[in-house]
Amino acid sequence: MNLDTSISELPLVGPVYARKLKRLDIKNIGDLLHHVPSRYLDFRLVSKIKKVQPGETVTIRGKVASIKNIYTKTRKKIQTAKIQDSTGEINAIWFNQPFLIRNLPVGTKIALAGKVDWFGRTRSLISPEYEKVWPGKPNVHTGRLTPIYPETARVSSKWLRAKISFAFSETKNNIDDYLPESVKQDLKLSDLSSAIKKVHFPETYEDAEKGKKRLAFDELLFVQLKAAYRKNKWQQNQATHKFEVNKRKVDEFINSLPFKLTKSQNRSVKEILDNLERKIPMNRLLEGDVGSGKTIVAAIAGYVCFLNERQSTLMAPTQILAEQHFITLKSLFKSYKVRVRLITSGRVKSDPGRADIFIGTHALIHKKVNFDNIGLVVIDEQHKFGVEQRARLIKKSKVKLLAPHVLTMTATPIPRSVALTVYGDLDLSTLDELPAGRQPIKTWVVPPQKRESAYKWIEKQIKKDKVQAFVICPLIEESDKETMRQVRAAAAEYENLQKIFPDLKIGLLHGKQSAKQKNEVLNNFKKKKLNLLVSTPVVEVGIDVPNATIMIIEAAERFGLAQLHQLRGRIGRGEKKSYCLLFSESRSQKASARLSALQKTLSGFELAELDLKLRGPGEVFGIKQHGFAELKIASWQDEELIREARNISNKAIENPKKFSKLLEKLKTSQIAPN
Ligand code: ADP
Ligand code: MG
Repeated sequence: MNLDTSISELPLVGPVYARKLKRLDIKNIGDLLHHVPSRYLDFRLVSKIKKVQPGETVTIRGKVASIKNIYTKTRKKIQTAKIQDSTGEINAIWFNQPFLIRNLPVGTKIALAGKVDWFGRTRSLISPEYEKVWPGKPNVHTGRLTPIYPETARVSSKWLRAKISFAFSETKNNIDDYLPESVKQDLKLSDLSSAIKKVHFPETYEDAEKGKKRLAFDELLFVQLKAAYRKNKWQQNQATHKFEVNKRKVDEFINSLPFKLTKSQNRSVKEILDNLERKIPMNRLLEGDVGSGKTIVAAIAGYVCFLNERQSTLMAPTQILAEQHFITLKSLFKSYKVRVRLITSGRVKSDPGRADIFIGTHALIHKKVNFDNIGLVVIDEQHKFGVEQRARLIKKSKVKLLAPHVLTMTATPIPRSVALTVYGDLDLSTLDELPAGRQPIKTWVVPPQKRESAYKWIEKQIKKDKVQAFVICPLIEESDKETMRQVRAAAAEYENLQKIFPDLKIGLLHGKQSAKQKNEVLNNFKKKKLNLLVSTPVVEVGIDVPNATIMIIEAAERFGLAQLHQLRGRIGRGEKKSYCLLFSESRSQKASARLSALQKTLSGFELAELDLKLRGPGEVFGIKQHGFAELKIASWQDEELIREARNISNKAIENPKKFSKLLEKLKTSQIAPN
């Protein structure tokens, strides 16, 4: 048995358990041994029964002297046992585990660990951990720092402990460390086998930390190495076309815009145009808050592509966004002879015709558009696409080793540590300011008792200033796709608001509507035929309705800060002052403190950093949406370890011989596919 052995080779792990373990991302023995405890119970104090005091957490060893079921008044079963050692007797009590009667018959030699308390008038161990004792068998659940693991249904920590203990004893001599000795010494990292041992069988908390540090380091190192390899591979491509940037014409175009570019737009344009002039194709991520003006930056790149007689393509996550881009770009390029074409999934058979810029949804991938002349691929809201979809669009535009320039854009502010690690293969441009003249959005957290007055205020604003409002329904399930439950909740809210605002015209928008229905609702909203638009959280993030200046977010505490910030970005697009009302049903201090961060700052980056601290990256980004695995062991907070891992990753790429074992391991490891 070694780390690559499949999990189903473990005794008593059949297909059913294998499936359950897969939910914890455990497929082989290595994964199992890298399943790091979330905490430990301190059962190190082993005591004679006579000495045990109520309040203590202890391990005792003895024999079962008696055991029986008793029934409570509510017909629940309680198991009580008397345990004896040479010094005395103590009670043990479990709830609702009748099988114990059979498992632990009188006479069984047993170790118990847990908290001692009074039960009635007797000292008792309440719901203790237990294990049978026999000579030569190491204690797994008692008498030590006992690990508690992330669990899943029917895979308990107890079950995991037993399996991990067995797996480790079978493999400990076959764990080949792939890190060079010198690296371990420099960074004071444990050797791999002893790190695994320390994590699962620590003698002290420091031990556990030390073991975890090594495993965390490896995790970060693999993520970074993968990114480095992707970068390396990408750079072996040649650009389909090394563009010439006609500075005069580009400036002319920029000067013709109805506004002046912001500083960070100018900087990003420059970074992009520099890339376009190179032989190696660009692979750049443009990140910027909602409303920071990413579209125009992409359009300028598209214009350069056009001047070089190449086509470009812009992929958007939804039909509505694609249409919005189409309208925007068509008007931007009105006097520049740039032909812009919208590709929709609706018109499957028709010939898309000739164009300089193709805009569409993922239908672009499937369409018989001839992509041989594509010089630039732009992917908007890249986190809405799977890794696969992005790769396919790029591949479609690729002729052998000739690749298009690729610009991906996202409104999700990505904290630096994450950007450097997970997106280490991409160059990064950042729009960190909003165009001038925007009115900052005012945000309030509205507690339940103020809901009614908030509604009155909203109605007044709508009637007085002729503004419009969004109502975002509670997030019911964390899912990329809209679920029926989510749709029903939105429909219920829609009914409810019609009763509250009988005078207002209200529309409903959700993902289960047809494209035609959605368009109709949105158009009515844009044309001010609706005062209020009720929508589910996942629908149409990027829509642009400048007259909508109020947003209500229901059950705001269920969202991440970054998510709330994104939603809020739908307002504050016009001249009028905008207001975001975060309705919260939660009375928890923590929730309202978290939400109040939105009152204080309008910076998506700050909020993302904060969210990362408070909730962790899984919740910030939604793992599925981003197509990268969450860190399981390491933390994004650990900047020093991230830096060290990055450093070693670079060294490994420079000196593959010295790191040959590591690089070999990388090929087989499944850590953080991306
Ligand atoms: P996002 O980054 O969310 O994609 P958009 O590109 O949709 O933002 O831009 C939002 C709005 O800001 C658009 O109406 C756009 O015309 C406008 N805009 C973009 N850049 C500027 C600028 N430098 N000054 C003023 N308005 C701008
Ligand atoms: Mg956009």
